[in-house]
Amino acid sequence: MNAEKPEDPQRQGLRERLEAILINTEKATPWHDEADRLRGLVNHEGYVPIRTRLGIEDLEFLGGARTELLRFSELGLRLLDLHQPRDAGGITSDTAHPILRCRSCMWRWPCPTFRAMSESFGATRDLPENA
Ligand SMILES: [Zn+2]
Repeated sequence: MNAEKPEDPQRQGLRERLEAILINTEKATPWHDEADRLRGLVNHEGYVPIRTRLGIEDLEFLGGARTELLRFSELGLRLLDLHQPRDAGGITSDTAHPILRCRSCMWRWPCPTFRAMSESFGATRDLPENA
């Protein structure tokens, strides 16, 4: 017998879409160094003509990258709006540092959602080129 609840199909579908984005992105060629080099070659009209060889994995990535990044940034901003600290109220002996809780999930601040976002998108986070 399986005592675990069956996976919510909506949640499972969402997981599969996110995993597909992750896999397609990992397969694409990283452009960080090349973009740095090309930035110095932008012409007076504001662009740089290039010739390059793109693999099918690169085309898959480039075809959806803008839409997916817009969705991710919108999601991040919505989560940031949802998960923010508020004074938990109650009596504390440390009035200078009141206990804060997330106004959305009620975990003690910083909540797990905010910590996960901070770990992924924090200012000091820098992914290796071929992660
Ligand atoms: Zn929260």
